[in-house]
Amino acid sequence: GTQQSDEHRLPRYVRVNTLKTTVEDVMDYVKRDGFTYLGEAVRLDDLNLKGKKFVRDLHLPELLAFPPKTDFHDHFLYKAGHIILQDKASCLPAHLLNPPPGSHVVDACAAPGNKTSHLAAIMRNTGRLFAFDLDAQRLATMSTLLLRAGLTCHQLANQDFLKVDPDSPQYKDVEYVLLDPSCSGSGMVCLRDNATADQKEEEEEARLARLASFQLRCLNHGLRFPRLKRLVYSTCSIHRQENEEVVAACLQQNPSFRLVHLLPQWPERGLEPLPQCLRASATKTLTHGFFVALLEKHSAAASFRS
Ligand code: SAM
Repeated sequence: GTQQSDEHRLPRYVRVNTLKTTVEDVMDYVKRDGFTYLGEAVRLDDLNLKGKKFVRDLHLPELLAFPPKTDFHDHFLYKAGHIILQDKASCLPAHLLNPPPGSHVVDACAAPGNKTSHLAAIMRNTGRLFAFDLDAQRLATMSTLLLRAGLTCHQLANQDFLKVDPDSPQYKDVEYVLLDPSCSGSGMVCLRDNATADQKEEEEEARLARLASFQLRCLNHGLRFPRLKRLVYSTCSIHRQENEEVVAACLQQNPSFRLVHLLPQWPERGLEPLPQCLRASATKTLTHGFFVALLEKHSAAASFRS
C-alpha cells in the first residue's frame, strides 16, 4: 500500500554513538566506502537523497542521513556499536531531555534501549542511568545492545515502572525522566497498514483508551521523583488520545509542571491546544509518526522545595 512505500521513502538515519567514536571518524569511514558528503542539511528537503550520498542532519548534531534503504546491518560500524540505526524522530526524546554529565536519570520503559544508549552518550557515560522494563526478553536484547554500545553508567531492572518507589533513597538525586511507554505504534509506517484492517472500530477505541490510561498512570508516576526537574514523554503513536490528551490530563493533575516550548524551527507541532509539543510524520518531517512533550517543574516550585 501507500504506507509501505512511505517507509521505503524515508531516509536511512544513522546516529553516531559518541561513546565509541566521533561524527568526523564515522564520516571519514563512510567516505572511504564511496559515499559523497554533501554537507550539513539546511532544509528538510536536503534529507531526500539518491545514490551514494549523505548529509548531516539539520536538527540533531550526531545524526547522518543516507538514501532510503541504505543497509548498514552488516557494516563494521554497526557491528562494533559505532553507529545506531535509529529513526530521527526517536532521537528527539533524549536530545530534548539533555541530561548533563553526572546527572541521575530514569528511563522508565527502556527496552530495547536505543534511547537509553542515546541518553548515556549525552551523559558521557557518567552519573547514573536507571533503566526499567517489564519484558525480560526485550531486556535481554537490550543488554546485548548496550554492551555493544559501550555503556557503563546504567543499571537495568526487570521491573514494572509503576511499582518503582520514587521515594526510595537510591532515586533521591533523580532529576530527569524519559518516559517512552507502550503505545498503539500507529506512527510506525510499516505497521500502519494491517493495524486496523480487520479490527472493529469499537475494539480499537477500547484499546486506545486502555493504552491512554496506562500512559497517564506512567506519566503521573514519573512526576513523583522528589528532585525531578524535567520529564520527556514520547510515543510512536499518531492518536490524540495517547498524546495531547494524556499530556493535558497530566498537567491538569500536576499544576507544578508546565510544558516547555520545543524546537521553534520544527515544522510539525502538537495538536491544539499544545503547540509546545512536537509531532513527526513521513510527510512533514521525513520520519515515522511520533509525539514528544517536555514537562518541567516551575522554577518557583523547584526553589520552594530545596
Ligand atoms: N524506549 C525504548 C527504546 O527507545 O528502545 C522503546 C520502549 S517501547 C515503546 C515500550 C516498552 O515499555 C516495551 O519494551 C515494554 O515492554 C515496556 N513496558 C510496558 N509496560 C511497562 C511497565 N509497566 N513498566 C516498565 N516497562 C513497561
